[in-house]
Amino acid sequence: MNVLVINSGSSSIKYLLLDMRTESVLCSGAVERIGEAAGVVTHKIAPGTDREDKISLAQPIPDHEEGMHLVIGLITDADKGVVKSVDEIEAVGHRIVQGGDTFSASCRVDDHVVEELAKLIPLAPVHNPGHLAGIRVARAMMPKVPQVTVFDTVFHQTMPPRAFMYALPYELYEELKVRRYGFHGTSHAYVTKEAARFLGKPAEQVNLITVHLGNGSSMCCVQNGKSIDTSMGLTPLEGLIMGTRCGDTDLAIYPLLGAAKGLSIEEINDLTNKQSGFKGICGRNDMRDIHEAVAQGDTKAKLALDMFGYRNRKYIGSYVAVLGRVDAIVFTAGIGENDPVARELSCRGLEHLGIRLDRDRNLAPVRGARDIATSDSPVRVLVIPTNEELEIARQTVGVLQAQ
Ligand code: ADP
Repeated sequence: MNVLVINSGSSSIKYLLLDMRTESVLCSGAVERIGEAAGVVTHKIAPGTDREDKISLAQPIPDHEEGMHLVIGLITDADKGVVKSVDEIEAVGHRIVQGGDTFSASCRVDDHVVEELAKLIPLAPVHNPGHLAGIRVARAMMPKVPQVTVFDTVFHQTMPPRAFMYALPYELYEELKVRRYGFHGTSHAYVTKEAARFLGKPAEQVNLITVHLGNGSSMCCVQNGKSIDTSMGLTPLEGLIMGTRCGDTDLAIYPLLGAAKGLSIEEINDLTNKQSGFKGICGRNDMRDIHEAVAQGDTKAKLALDMFGYRNRKYIGSYVAVLGRVDAIVFTAGIGENDPVARELSCRGLEHLGIRLDRDRNLAPVRGARDIATSDSPVRVLVIPTNEELEIARQTVGVLQAQ
């Protein structure tokens, strides 16, 4: 089965076509700057293979409809296409950031699902309108192709109320659904299953702390294969220190900023989401740049790294307390998979909790799933590359096969 995975945002459509018989990528790409004067399209054929080929286009892309036309045109191109027609696309899997507590599983798209997604816009004003635009044009252009929504929040729907409730007036939960939802669920779900396989245990029996460290970062406390707590909240702002997001802060800071600097709610939103985190502390949001700055003696970059490691250790420690028995800490995503310093900082001083990192294994320039704990470490420390698109495609196939 060929599955087209679509991640449609407010101004972009990212896509990946997979042949699910072999789980191999046929092509991938992105249509960006939709609605701007200069649109950009990048399309890669058979990425990662010796047949790899790349097409780049620059042209105005007024709306999602035109964007999706371009995507389908490139995929089915007579000369360079990877399939002959849309008939060879057998399913579409849509990545959705916020499913609220309406959606506790991936599901096939119908008019009711679209209506419910529209109702969730107040909880995800930045993401869900772009997702809906993608669903609308994909359904219109491929009316016979089944479409499935896969949510970032679904994996965390197993959290108990004690973990997902905020200690705010209960009416806010009832009236406005103000609660913690958690994100990166597709990644946490994928690495949970992969880690269980690596450990040779059924997923329903593993206790893990999955640590997704990318531009956005989150941790998940996994008991018997299910999320029972996670660091992100109502939005992806809460929790760890990220590239440009502050993570946990004292909310009393914001009225103070309003009074002292006259900042509006919108400006505070921008400050906490786009101007904070590593960028706010040291002016750089990319971890590689931060290491370079630290090597040149930049004290603010050093502080940003220290804060990042300390926050990660606090979260790991609290999840160990919740779980009792931990089979493994699982690092994933751009920083988690590639940065031994970040992993070391996140585990430093946690030997008394049974977390013992092996220095050489951590530093070894190896790719793929691996164990970087010492042989005698009671808790394994794993690096498992995430693959959110593959997880979306697998869930899409799973939903259709279950029908
Ligand atoms: P996103 O959240 O956008 O999917 P990624 O998972 O791709 O982000 O992670 C991006 C982060 O990973 C950036 O901070 C980048 O610096 C970091 N990163 C990527 N490769 C490396 C590397 N080799 N060493 C250290 N950090 C890396």
